[in-house]
Amino acid sequence: MLKEISRKNAVHIMLVYTGGCNGCDIEVVNAVMSPFYDMEQYKVMLTWNPREADILAVTGPVTKKFEKALKEIYEAIPEPKLVAAIGTCAITGGPYANLGGDLGSSDQIIGGVAKVIPVDANIPGCPPRPEDILQAVASVIPLLAGKR
Ligand code: SF4
Repeated sequence: MLKEISRKNAVHIMLVYTGGCNGCDIEVVNAVMSPFYDMEQYKVMLTWNPREADILAVTGPVTKKFEKALKEIYEAIPEPKLVAAIGTCAITGGPYANLGGDLGSSDQIIGGVAKVIPVDANIPGCPPRPEDILQAVASVIPLLAGKR
């Protein structure tokens, strides 16, 4: 009951980092959630619990090591839910998709999030600007409302 009220009155985003350089995470955690951009004023909160989440926001390329965990996190989020791929790495694998030679790790990278779970919104950039992340979140919230 309390959980239903909470879900109806706020949007909870679970941020998952699957690889990459952490630049996108810094934009979300240190910029978008900061008092300057203040995403919480729109009742959009971060959560680290998939069972509380409405939106799964993924940063970084999906690595083979993270594939199973990402699927499990996605399955643990109750319906209705949305997935946002934040940054070039989460959309295509970014610079990590073509690593090779001495770095030799391209065989450890699956690529974009959409190769593993369904994605509802892509937020391009390396990293995306905080304004773009906020705008994208604002644009998908009506989709979530439509699913409820
Ligand atoms: S998109 Fe750019 S900033 Fe974001 S994780 Fe990849 S390399 Fe880092």
